[in-house]
Amino acid sequence: MGLKEECGVFGIFDIDEAAVLTTLGLHSLQHRGQEGAGIVSYDGTSFHAVKKEGLVGDNFNSAETLDKLPGRRAVGHVRYSTTGDTKITNVQPLFANLSAGGFACAHNGNLTNTHKLTKQLVQTGSIFQTTSDTEIILQLVARSRKRKTIDKIKDALSHIQGAYSLIIMTNKKLIGIKDPFGIRPLVLGKKNKAYVLASETCALDIIGAKYIRDVENGEMVIITESGLESIKIFPNSPERPCIFERIYFSRPDSIIDGNSVYTYRKNLGEQLAIENNIDADVVVPVPDSGAPAAIGYSQKSGIPFELGIIRNHYVGRTFIEPSQSIRQFGVKLKHSVNKSSIKNKRVILIDDSIVRGTTANKVVKMVFDAGAKEVHFGISSPPILHPDFYGIDTPQYSELIAANHNIEEITKIIGATSVFFLSLEGTYKAMGHETRNPKNPQFTDHCFTGDYPIDVRDILKHGNS
Ligand code: AMP
Repeated sequence: MGLKEECGVFGIFDIDEAAVLTTLGLHSLQHRGQEGAGIVSYDGTSFHAVKKEGLVGDNFNSAETLDKLPGRRAVGHVRYSTTGDTKITNVQPLFANLSAGGFACAHNGNLTNTHKLTKQLVQTGSIFQTTSDTEIILQLVARSRKRKTIDKIKDALSHIQGAYSLIIMTNKKLIGIKDPFGIRPLVLGKKNKAYVLASETCALDIIGAKYIRDVENGEMVIITESGLESIKIFPNSPERPCIFERIYFSRPDSIIDGNSVYTYRKNLGEQLAIENNIDADVVVPVPDSGAPAAIGYSQKSGIPFELGIIRNHYVGRTFIEPSQSIRQFGVKLKHSVNKSSIKNKRVILIDDSIVRGTTANKVVKMVFDAGAKEVHFGISSPPILHPDFYGIDTPQYSELIAANHNIEEITKIIGATSVFFLSLEGTYKAMGHETRNPKNPQFTDHCFTGDYPIDVRDILKHGNS
């Protein structure tokens, strides 16, 4: 398969111009994936699909395109892959004509037993059209011997492992599903009488839909003309949402668990200031991801906040570029220094995370070059010691700077005066928890702890395929 994906999903049921609303929803989920976008609509008789590489706004911006997506129901997807497999065939939603009719599926997450399942499926006659792990779900649904679609889906899910928030559209239903641990987000909303499913609440806001609730871990919500039904398909598993959604991935204005992501990030910055009392003149965020934490740090420490680094908004997220050479280049293109707020100052730079160290390396150098006297680099989360296999792309162990170096070495490598991270306990505090429950952690925090709630041995052995 070779794909790791962090994506955004959106679906809407029974409303005029469903594809237009889906386009808007996807546009506000664009931060979750910029490589490709797709929409499948259903007009009561037929399914229609448009899939494009690139940004939503560049591709779903004409009446001509949207006219190809008629109907009052639609499901959409924005996609991000980083291992080079950027083919249009992998752009979702994936669609198949099954015995009971059309079946469109949009997936955010990553399956962890794809190697085993693909082998079994191929050996028994399946032909794969894509290299996306999502196709396994379609194959398993197609081959299920159960009669009803819902039972076929349940049957398919009983074979897969991993992280998945799914939106499925058939000719009668819109279905939202979260994996047993609820690792990736999925929310339910309503616009007038139409139900909406989306990765984050920011996609509800843009279309003026009301947030109802989060889909629960292990839950399937089934939306039909008669309303909404909920089934707990994995009733007894503990919720472990991915902590990194709050730290980095979700949009700051999205609401998770009653608070904005912005508030969590500000809390992380405050906590970082409580744990690390550094004498300095200015607090400067690494834009944009470090901004809320830097505000928190500045407010707590009393050190003034300055925009010392300016971000060029016409360059995509550094990570999103599939090759290391482009990625390196991307960092330079992306940031420049605002000398006036940095020269002769002792600077605290704040970012939300260090992965490979590429960004930290570049910005520390830039800030020194601009005349800073000291550059302290504060990270509003703990060191990333382990890769993610549940849908956020992080590189393997060998490329994770903190998995291979201690703090003194990191400080040297990135050329900073000092480097400091937030503690794990502090991270939980910032999220509103007194302490991390060691037996049953409130989040999946495997990137920091190596505590993977879902077995990843298949991936470690065979790669993500
Ligand atoms: P690096 O430059 O490799 O150390 O990556 C750290 C930078 O990338 C930070 O500015 C983060 O905000 C951002 N980042 C962290 N995790 C991810 C991710 N999974 N995808 C894209 N960017 C990320």
